[in-house]
Amino acid sequence: MNQSPKSSFSLMSVVCQTIGHKYTETRKITNHIHEYKCKHCGREVTENSAGKIELLTHRVRQVNNNVAEFFEKRNRRLTA
Ligand SMILES: [Zn+2]
Repeated sequence: MNQSPKSSFSLMSVVCQTIGHKYTETRKITNHIHEYKCKHCGREVTENSAGKIELLTHRVRQVNNNVAEFFEKRNRRLTA
């Protein structure tokens, strides 16, 4: 028998399932939207415009990039 353990099964993801993810802020998009990354399993999430946490997919990250850019420009104009 040749059974190699699957690396996708990590102890850390079990920790997260048990006690919950340990998110740290990785990026500020706006005053109300931030991106977070779990210290344990590396899962990335973000707040959406409705204030709910959702998975940070490639598409969502692009939306955030656009929002951040727009927000930055507007901020610069306000403070100038
Ligand atoms: Zn986690």
